[in-house]
Amino acid sequence: MPAFDLFEIREADTVSIVRFAQEIDNFSHRASELHEQLLRFVGDHSCLKLVIDLKDTTYLPSSVLGVLVQLHNHGCEVHLANASDDVVEVLHVTQLVRMIHVNETAVEPWSEDISERLEVVVVGVQGYCVTCPECLHEVDTDKHNIGKRTVCGHCDHEFAVAAELLREATHLSADCPSCHNRLRFRREQLQQTIPCPLCDTQMEIRMIV
Ligand SMILES: [Zn+2]
Ligand SMILES: [Zn+2]
Repeated sequence: MPAFDLFEIREADTVSIVRFAQEIDNFSHRASELHEQLLRFVGDHSCLKLVIDLKDTTYLPSSVLGVLVQLHNHGCEVHLANASDDVVEVLHVTQLVRMIHVNETAVEPWSEDISERLEVVVVGVQGYCVTCPECLHEVDTDKHNIGKRTVCGHCDHEFAVAAELLREATHLSADCPSCHNRLRFRREQLQQTIPCPLCDTQMEIRMIV
C-alpha cells in the first residue's frame, strides 16, 4: 500500500524534491487524489518548499496546474525544475509564474532506478509494537517508556510497559533516513536489507543500544 502512488520522493524535508510517478495523461482525472497526496506529504514533512522535477514531463494539464496553485495557496512554495519550454510558456501566459517558481531550482539527475543504487543505510530500531494485555491490540511505544505506564488507544486500558513486552514485540519500527516516514517491520527482518516501501532506500535495521 504505497502511501503516495502519484509521485516519487527523492528528498522529504522542509525542502522536498519529487517527480510524477506516472505519465501525466493519467493525472487529469486524478487531480483530487494528487491534491490529497501532495497535501498529506507536505504536511507530514512540514515541507515549506516543494520542488517538482519535470524532466520527463513535457506538458501539464490544467487540472494539475490547479493542484499546484492550491498547494501555493496552502502556504507551500512550489517550484518546477527542468520544465520544458511549453510548460514555461503556459505558466507565463496564464500568469501562474506569480505563484509557481519555474526553473529557478536546479535538480541533479535522478538515477532512473533508485533501487539499483544498493547503498545500504544502517538504521536503529526506534519503536516497538507491544500487545495490550487487555484487548490484544498493538500499541506503539519505545524503550524510553520501559517501566512507565501507557494507555491502549483501542480500549483505554492502562498498563505498565515491561521490558519483557518489548522483547516479545513481533513488530518493530524505525524511521526511514531518506523520507523520514515511520516504518513497521517484523522482528525477523532485523539485520536484513529491506527497501523502504515509500522511497526505496535500502535499509538494514539493527538493534542499536
Ligand atoms: Zn487495549
Ligand atoms: Zn523512505
